[in-house]
Amino acid sequence: MIIDAHSHILSLSADPGFTLEYGREGSLCIYRSMGSLPSHRMPTEAEWEASGYTRKGWPVIGPEESVRDHPGFDKIIVLAISPQHLEGRLIGTVDTAGVLGIDGPPDPERCNDYIAGVVRTDPERFIGFASVNPTHEGVNAAVEELERAVTELGLSGLKLYPMYQHWAANDPDLGFPIYRKAQELGIPVMIHQAGSTRIDAKLELGRPAILDDIGREFRDLRVIIAHCGLPWVDEALFLLTKHPNFFAELSYLIATLTRRDLFLLLSRCEPMFVPLEKLFFGTDYPGFLYDPAALREKLMSVNQEADVLHMPPIAQEKLDGIMGDNVARMLGLIEA
Ligand SMILES: [Zn+2]
Repeated sequence: MIIDAHSHILSLSADPGFTLEYGREGSLCIYRSMGSLPSHRMPTEAEWEASGYTRKGWPVIGPEESVRDHPGFDKIIVLAISPQHLEGRLIGTVDTAGVLGIDGPPDPERCNDYIAGVVRTDPERFIGFASVNPTHEGVNAAVEELERAVTELGLSGLKLYPMYQHWAANDPDLGFPIYRKAQELGIPVMIHQAGSTRIDAKLELGRPAILDDIGREFRDLRVIIAHCGLPWVDEALFLLTKHPNFFAELSYLIATLTRRDLFLLLSRCEPMFVPLEKLFFGTDYPGFLYDPAALREKLMSVNQEADVLHMPPIAQEKLDGIMGDNVARMLGLIEA
């Protein structure tokens, strides 16, 4: 199976212009590293326009565009973004274009309803993950919303964003009740436990190591470390060796690696006791540089580097696993 284990969709605020602004700021580091924008200060509007990147960070797309941009993919995991206040504005997944036919004005409080609406457009293709934020209306409300999202809306997993929302993933009061509910519902939890170049994100809360407390307390809970913990990749990989129900997906990281570095990273997993069955392909589509077809090609052609480096290739069946079979097995779509 070919599966994108990490993608986004729709808008991030009732104002679609804000989504573009948010996306371009999040991608500013990329444009700066390419020499396209000043590295030592914020660009002016005129510099943004001249660079050609002002509208590329996070385009607002719907289900049709997502399917179009995932040619040959069997499944696409779409992740909700839970409501949070950012600089006085309530942000979170909303359908500003009204393509899903959900009543009422766009409201981030209903992020999970929108993701369920995306799944209904093509239930064979889309797998929806809910999102909740325990610092928004309190942890009890978050637990109730998670239960509703799974039992009433039919969503299949949970995505959490602790470092963006300024709470610690291993907080026994804010996090544990959510994990307990997820374990009871039998759904996996993907956690953005990695860095972010957004200036408001709190980096120290992104360290993968703090997930160890979750693995020790909730032994049956399936945990997916998003972005393989970038920049703490080895730390994330070590957690996969320690906790039998921990996995990692490669989005964002895979875009930052050359094909050779990707090959070298995969080649050193097994020697460092990380089964390649624990890794999932992901893109972070529709962000800049996150073209699903190009990233899939990068992964599936890594063995061309083996020839050049005179190293043993990665077994095709292991690459196929990363490309989708591993996550399909974890989700129970194919037999373990
Ligand atoms: Zn993402």
